[in-house]
Amino acid sequence: MYETVKGLVIREVVFGEADKLIDLLTENGVRTVRVRGARKQGSKYAAVTQVFSYGEFCLRQSGGRYYLDSAVSLSSFYGLRGRLEALALAAYFSELVRRTATDQPQPQILRLFLISLHYLSEQTRPDAQIKAVFELRLISELGMMPDLVCCPVCMRYLPPAPILRLDRADMTCADCWDAHERNDLPVTPSALQAVRHAVLADLDRLFAFRVSGESLRLFAVYAEAYVLRRTENAYPTLHFYRQITGADDDD
Ligand SMILES: [Zn+2]
Repeated sequence: MYETVKGLVIREVVFGEADKLIDLLTENGVRTVRVRGARKQGSKYAAVTQVFSYGEFCLRQSGGRYYLDSAVSLSSFYGLRGRLEALALAAYFSELVRRTATDQPQPQILRLFLISLHYLSEQTRPDAQIKAVFELRLISELGMMPDLVCCPVCMRYLPPAPILRLDRADMTCADCWDAHERNDLPVTPSALQAVRHAVLADLDRLFAFRVSGESLRLFAVYAEAYVLRRTENAYPTLHFYRQITGADDDD
């Protein structure tokens, strides 16, 4: 049985003498595909099956497994390849997606990944912004969006001193902040707006906003803490990214 799918290679591992296995993120979830002879000299599918290449793949299904029949490259995100920070971040995105993958069709997650790789590749937004947007949007697409409509007590949409509450997955404001919990994070109004944009904006406009300085820092702190809190996983790829960017220095 054959099927043709568009997909992004999010992991490759060596398999046997000359083959490899690739994890392909498609609109219908993640497929593991065996690519015969991919590591032989001159294999015509070596490039299109390398990690973070996007293409159209013809798969043959047999005995519950997928095999690559043929493939055409649609984008290879060249801008990623020469930059270790970008590759490390993309590897973290890949781990997040693989660890939270379900059998449900999730076309939005494939689009989110492609858009984020585009910006990582083009470098027109800070890496910290791309990381935070990806984390928050992925979690939201998985049904764990924080409730940030307004402060539930005074109903202000944009209070001067918002507090993001991790454990309750909501917000409040400094004036109405009653029970101070360990994971509550006071932020700036701009950081709150950045979080709202990441979880609610149309994917076409996902990166059509600017955030910088202290607001970017708080946006990034919240996004990472939120994804770790909701998924309750540890991510070796995140640890590696933090090491190479020096983010572990202030721990
Ligand atoms: Zn309030």
